Formats: sequence, structure tokens, C-alpha cells
Amino acid sequence: MPVAATGDYDDGNIFARILRGEIPSQRIYEDAFAVAFHDINPQAPVHVLVIPRGPYISWADFSARATDAEIAGFVRAVGQVARDLGLEEPGYRLLANAGVHAHQEVPHLHVHIFGGRQMGAMLPR
Ligand code: 5GP
Repeated sequence: MPVAATGDYDDGNIFARILRGEIPSQRIYEDAFAVAFHDINPQAPVHVLVIPRGPYISWADFSARATDAEIAGFVRAVGQVARDLGLEEPGYRLLANAGVHAHQEVPHLHVHIFGGRQMGAMLPR
């Protein structure tokens, strides 16, 4: 079910639990600001999620409340993970869903990294 991108942060959401190590994930990267792991239901040969460690619901929430260091650290982590995955040369797609119209399902900011095949048109028409 899609979730609203506004309101209070839900500390029991699935990515908060992954961050706390309560639920297993296939982590491929972590640093002080971000964690990256494989999506449980991949939609491309490479489908990785990058999340900030802090409690932010969406890009709007993160950009409004996070510190400059958190924002820089998270953005750098997304780029680093894409490079580490070898996606620079063939190319890849970044996606961050926010709220009901975008069908955001987990109310903790996440950037999807898709790669490993032609991605096709940006959105279904
Ligand atoms: P959204 O629609 O919110 O942008 O995407 C949420 C993503 O989280 C989906 O691609 C879904 O497959 C993934 N996901 C949901 N639950 C889990 C989980 O427990 N572990 C992992 N690794 N991914 C999950």
C-alpha cells in the first residue's frame, strides 16, 4: 500500500528495522550516513536501495530537516554505490518515490538504483 510522504516518522517501518539489524538484508555498502542493500523484489538485474541512517520519510522531509553533512553524505553514498556496482559506463537509473501518487511503500527515504539492462522510457504513458 502506498504511504503518505508527510507526517511523523514511523520508527517501526521496515527500513528502520533493517537499519537496526532486526530484519536481515543483503548490505553492499555502509558508512556514517547511508546504508545500501539489494531490493528484496528486484525489478532489474541490479536493483539496490540506498537509505540515509537518519529518520526521514521522503526527499522533501530529508531536504528540509537533515544537516548539510547528512545530505552531502547521502548524496555521495548514492554515487559511490553506483560506481562500486560498475554502472557508470553502461548507465543506470535513480528513482525516489514520494507519497501516494508515486506509490511510495516504505516511509523511510530510499533511492532506488536500477541497472544491468536498457531501462526504456522514463514512465509508462
Ligand atoms: P517504494 O515503492 O517505497 O519506492 O519501494 C519500496 C521497495 O522496498 C520495493 O522495491 C520493495 O521491493 C522493497 N522492500 C520492501 N520490503 C523490503 C525488505 O524487507 N527488504 C528489502 N531488501 N527490500 C524491501
